[in-house]
Amino acid sequence: MMGSGIGENLSRLRGEVLAAAVKAGRDPADIKIIAVTKGVPVGRMLEAVREGITDLGENRVQELLAKQPRFGPEVRWHLIGHLQTNKVKSVVGRVRLIHSLDSWRLACEIDRRSREAGVVSEVLVQVNVSGEDTKHGLAPAEVQDFIKSALELPGISVRGLMTVAPLVEDPEEARPVFRELKRLFDSIREAVPSVPMAYLSMGMTNDYRVAVEEGSNILRVGAAIFGAR
Ligand SMILES: *Cc1c(COP(=O)(O)O)cnc(C)c1O
Repeated sequence: MMGSGIGENLSRLRGEVLAAAVKAGRDPADIKIIAVTKGVPVGRMLEAVREGITDLGENRVQELLAKQPRFGPEVRWHLIGHLQTNKVKSVVGRVRLIHSLDSWRLACEIDRRSREAGVVSEVLVQVNVSGEDTKHGLAPAEVQDFIKSALELPGISVRGLMTVAPLVEDPEEARPVFRELKRLFDSIREAVPSVPMAYLSMGMTNDYRVAVEEGSNILRVGAAIFGAR
């Protein structure tokens, strides 16, 4: 467990993000921290919100829906874990951003349910940069065509890319993965300018400093805020 004080953990985290941004010549204001709250009780989540957290990330639809009524409309919710098509209906309209669009079938279902609900769902395309079998996400080579095709789905708006780096001892080993995702992000923005790509969601507790240096603007951080799971 890291220090149990959420406020203390958050100030340490913000300090580290600031330092990494400055080191990389970036504006720290461009980098959003999402507090990842899987398995975290609502009381501790509320404490994080009191300490200035505005964005909460959950892996599972069930857990998100169970916790959401305890928070006000000022909190923005992010679905960061794999989304099954049969859960799409219950999550559409309830989250600010779905980070885990990883198949065409899922894109079609989010589109359909969003149109039914009269909303446009903002999504990130999850990319399996490292190519690990255990990871969800599109292969990098598929992403540009996928995003072009998604322009034809009026119920979804692709706002950027997301990846989960391999769990490695030395965060430096994640750097090539982040660099590759940033390169892909830039090339798609240039090739398909009609897509309002703005977000690059990469970096977790172990590797967020490296992710900031490589251009991330959304960090998904759990353990460094709430302690080890
Ligand atoms: C759990 C999780 C995180 C946060 O991981 P920490 O190591 O606790 O910071 C970020 N992204 C995804 C997709 C996760 O499942």
